[in-house]
Amino acid sequence: MQEESSFQRLGQVLANSGLPQTTSAKKASAPSSIEYKCPICHDLGWVSFDVELGHPDFGLLVRCECMKEADEAERRARFLRLCRLPAATEDRTFEKFEPRPGLEKAIQAAQQVAAGKLRWLTLMGGVDTGKSHLAMAIARKWLEQGKPARYAAVPVFLDELRRGYHPDADMSYDQEFYFYQNVDLLVLDDLGMECPTPWAQEKLDMLVNYRYENALPLVVTTNLPMDQISPRIASRLQRTDFGRVVNIKALEYRLYRMKERPAKPK
Ligand SMILES: [Zn+2]
Repeated sequence: MQEESSFQRLGQVLANSGLPQTTSAKKASAPSSIEYKCPICHDLGWVSFDVELGHPDFGLLVRCECMKEADEAERRARFLRLCRLPAATEDRTFEKFEPRPGLEKAIQAAQQVAAGKLRWLTLMGGVDTGKSHLAMAIARKWLEQGKPARYAAVPVFLDELRRGYHPDADMSYDQEFYFYQNVDLLVLDDLGMECPTPWAQEKLDMLVNYRYENALPLVVTTNLPMDQISPRIASRLQRTDFGRVVNIKALEYRLYRMKERPAKPK
């Protein structure tokens, strides 16, 4: 039954392509026994313009209104896959971020990048201070707004560079690198935790420089002080006309919880 109706729909697509059909004509020619969810396109997802033969829009198929939601959901799912946020980090959002004293500037700057009001942001600070959470929250916000983003843990990224591929990559290596260079927002998490080969370091420098020269948004997190980061990258990150460097001085979450929060009675 399912197969039969799919076949009929396919037949109708073929019949409609290039033929002077209108939406009402399609409706009239459809067998009356079939009930369509969408009376406009008869569940084909596409509609043609009601114009005369010879009109520039004649035979042109456009997406039907009824597909808008499904198309948008598919687009978001595709962007989420392309972003490569690690599994089980769905809670790394602004809403789930626990603010603490010392994080005010970092949160404010992160929100500005999320809103597209600040182009570059470098979050510096020790482990477990919330840098990665904020960086991921920015990426998620961009995805929510329908804008592509790519998250990369730098040590993993450099390892991929060395091997020349990503296990889940659906693009060639050159296409992948092009994507890192040009994606609307790039997040480089944990810069400086790696010991790259000169070649990989050169690639990373190139990437940051490319995004700088093309004024493309970048978020970097690092545990290192600026003087221990590759000089070419550090000089770009510190350009105040372009972005902001925030040095997080907050306590680690683990210590904060021990000090500031009363233990729950058992
Ligand atoms: Zn429709």
